[in-house]
Amino acid sequence: MAAPQPFKAHPDIERVLLDESQIKARVQELAREISRDYAGRCLTLVGILKGSVVFLGELMRQLSVDCTVDFMCLSSYEGGGSTGVVRVLLDLRENAEGRDILVVEDIVDTGLTLHYLLDNLRTRGPRSLEVCALLDKPDCRKTQVKAKYVGFRIPNQFVVGYGLDYNEKYRNLPYVAVLKAGAIGGK
Ligand code: 5GP
Repeated sequence: MAAPQPFKAHPDIERVLLDESQIKARVQELAREISRDYAGRCLTLVGILKGSVVFLGELMRQLSVDCTVDFMCLSSYEGGGSTGVVRVLLDLRENAEGRDILVVEDIVDTGLTLHYLLDNLRTRGPRSLEVCALLDKPDCRKTQVKAKYVGFRIPNQFVVGYGLDYNEKYRNLPYVAVLKAGAIGGK
């Protein structure tokens, strides 16, 4: 068998913020907590595309409660960051009424997207509605919104990896990291 190779980050990466083993351990803890809280119920995980897919995949593998999975895709009108004006590009396939919904997000930044989403889902009459976010940037909040389950609180900086992109790249990196200045603005 080949000897393990020393860790080498992607050349566009300035600094790894959370490595693979840290994330794995924390996702396991979150899954245990969620499994305890929803024991005996069937959870509906709602993954927000595309950023949550890696996190959702790992989280659901670790859950010991029954669950179903559904997806939504939202776009927030850009122009100097998130405006809170949100469009639903893909909606749930299943009816949310009477369900225990757990929204799975990659990151909560201003909170505007999540605020819109929770208002929208609440009108559908779920039995319960909570949020699980891998990352939280509490210093960036523009609206009162809170995820019940949070993987890591991070400072106000743009991160990629573990599902998070820059221009659709870097989602496949198994860690969360900050890009080199030279990688921003390029293709
Ligand atoms: P909010 O409405 O909370 O400002 O925006 C949330 C969305 O903005 C996230 O779901 C994510 O898609 C994107 N976002 C916010 N911060 C970051 C970041 O640091 N890196 C990346 N790649 N996306 C981010």
